[in-house]
Order: sequence, then structure tokens, then C-alpha cells
Amino acid sequence: MEDSYHRLSEAYGFPESRYLPRILEKCLTEREASLLLSLPGTAEEVAGKLCMDVSSVQSILGELFQKGFIFYDLVEGKRRYTLITNLRDAITVNNRVEQFGEEFFDLWARMYDEEVSRDFDVEGYEARVIPVHEAIEPGAEILPYEKVSGLLEKAETIAVMRCPCRITNRRCDNPVETCITLNGAAKYVLERGVGRELTREEALSLFNQCEDAGLIHQVGNGSLGVSWICNCCACCCVYLRAQIISGKKYATVKTRYRAVVDSGLCNECGLCIDRCNFGTIKMVNSKPVIDEEKCFGCGLCASQCPVNAISLSQTKGPEYIPTREAEPLFSSI
Ligand code: SF4
Ligand code: SF4
Ligand code: SF4
Repeated sequence: MEDSYHRLSEAYGFPESRYLPRILEKCLTEREASLLLSLPGTAEEVAGKLCMDVSSVQSILGELFQKGFIFYDLVEGKRRYTLITNLRDAITVNNRVEQFGEEFFDLWARMYDEEVSRDFDVEGYEARVIPVHEAIEPGAEILPYEKVSGLLEKAETIAVMRCPCRITNRRCDNPVETCITLNGAAKYVLERGVGRELTREEALSLFNQCEDAGLIHQVGNGSLGVSWICNCCACCCVYLRAQIISGKKYATVKTRYRAVVDSGLCNECGLCIDRCNFGTIKMVNSKPVIDEEKCFGCGLCASQCPVNAISLSQTKGPEYIPTREAEPLFSSI
């Protein structure tokens, strides 16, 4: 009979994975893995299924919640636990992830690139890039979800947590405390102790720092709205890597804008080339030329042009980005 780690891999939808059982073995005890397989249920129901006493089950469930493998709803005043099926949230949003060791990081990176990214072939964009809104040409229409400040304004709770993509991929030295969660997702992050609460002003200041550092804003593309806003790099981000390196169609979607250069204003400093994560800009006769096909419309080139010679021009209408039907795990705005 297969061990609990293999059966759990199957429950996560990766029955043939070459990596996941070994990853799970590094994160979970055999008993924790067996308990996960008995969910959903309350502590009492799980205790009944596994012939264990309720207080031992409660203690393991508490540990699994802290580790990020389970979530709960209150049903008639009792916590009813379910498995979190988003592997990234379950395994890498974890204060103790560094303790899993070098082999864990290697296995994780290989599993993501070779196996998990296949999910991004399924129709419905997981994420969308949103532009630095100061870079957008005057008079262009900006939709509510395209503006970080607008998303923050509506949020009741805001929390920041460490970026699991950069912690696990480790391909750059960009800042790590950069993933913003909102409302229900923020409360969950705070309850687990894997993030800290921010005021709106602190969150806006963090976004400005991330823009200065050359990080790209992305939001989740769920039908119930936005529950996270990330600050990403093309080298570590699971969505951008899947899109650019593995050619996955539905990992993330570009903005409705493209960068345009006013050659008359340009002083030929070349800064915009360094700012672009996508290798989109080339110097031709000492002036920057944008490859429109490759441009994601993030606006990072424009935001630090010393003479404002680049801006984002709207090239698509509001219907351009279809919202993914899948519901986010947590309530959102
Ligand atoms: S999506 Fe972006 S900020 Fe979020 S975890 Fe990945 S790289 Fe980090
Ligand atoms: S950053 Fe601005 S001024 Fe410098 S090369 Fe690019 S467009 Fe020209
Ligand atoms: S040229 Fe590069 S930095 Fe500028 S908007 Fe396009 S993708 Fe972003």
C-alpha cells in the first residue's frame, strides 16, 4: 500500500509527481500526513475516523494550520477543517520554510517548473499585471482593479508577507517582504502569524519602494475580486516564469497598455533598458525602441525616465482581460 505522502500527492492532483511525495516528507510527519487525508472534518470527526483522542487531534490540527496546510470554517460554532489545495500557499507561505533545507528548494523549483506550471495551460488567467498608474498617458481610462491605491482604499485589512517565489527560487536579491494580502486573505495571514498588518499609508509606501526596486505589480484574477497584490520579478515569480520561460498561455496577462517613447524628449541615458524585466527595449541609433509584442505594459521603464520620455498608451478596451471563474479561497474586495 502507498504511504501517506504518495496518497496526499494524489489528493493534491499530482498522483504521478516525481517530487511532491519527497517534498511533503520534508514538511510533514507521517501522522500529520495521515490526518490531512482524513479531512474534511471537525476535530471530533477526525478523532473518530483515526481512533485518536480529540485533544491530540486538536494539537496536530493547530500545527497544520500554522504550517498552512489547512483552513477552517465555523459550522454551528465548531471549526470544520479542510485541506488547502493551493500547494504554494500550503507549503511555502511558512515562517519555517528555510528549515526544510537545500534539497527541499531544489525539489520545489523542479516540481513547479516541470509539473505545477501545466495548470497554466488551462483557460482562465491566474493573475494579471497592473501598471504603475503614474506612467499612464493623461486622459486614459483606468479601471478600478488597475490602480494599487484604489484597491488599497477599499480594503478593511491589509497585511504584508514574505514572497514565497523569491524565498524558494532565490534567483535575485530583490526585497522579500513584498506580497500584500487584503481583507479575508490578510486576516488569514495575520492569524497564522506569517505576515504583519499595514496601514494604507504603509502599504502605499511599500508599493513605491517596490516600484523603485523595479518590481512588477500583479493581482489575482479571481471572479470575486482582488485578494492579493504582489510585487514581482520575472526571474522568480511563478506566473511570470511560467509565461515567459515555459510559454504557458494562462499564467498571467499583460495590462491594457503599451510603452511608447517620445524620441524628441529622450536624452539617450539607457535607464529604461535596465528597468525592463522582459528585454523589451533595444537602443537603435541611440534611441530606445519598444517591441510592442513583448511589452507587458507594467510602466516600470516610464516611472524612472528622467525626462518623462516614455509613457503607457492604452491599446485595449476594458473587455480585453476576462476574469477567471474560479473563486478565491478568501473573501476579497
Ligand atoms: S507572485 Fe510575485 S510577489 Fe507574489 S510570491 Fe510570486 S514573485 Fe513574490
Ligand atoms: S530612460 Fe528615458 S531618457 Fe533614458 S533612454 Fe529611456 S526614454 Fe530615453
Ligand atoms: S517596455 Fe518593459 S518596462 Fe516598459 S512597460 Fe513594457 S514591459 Fe514594462
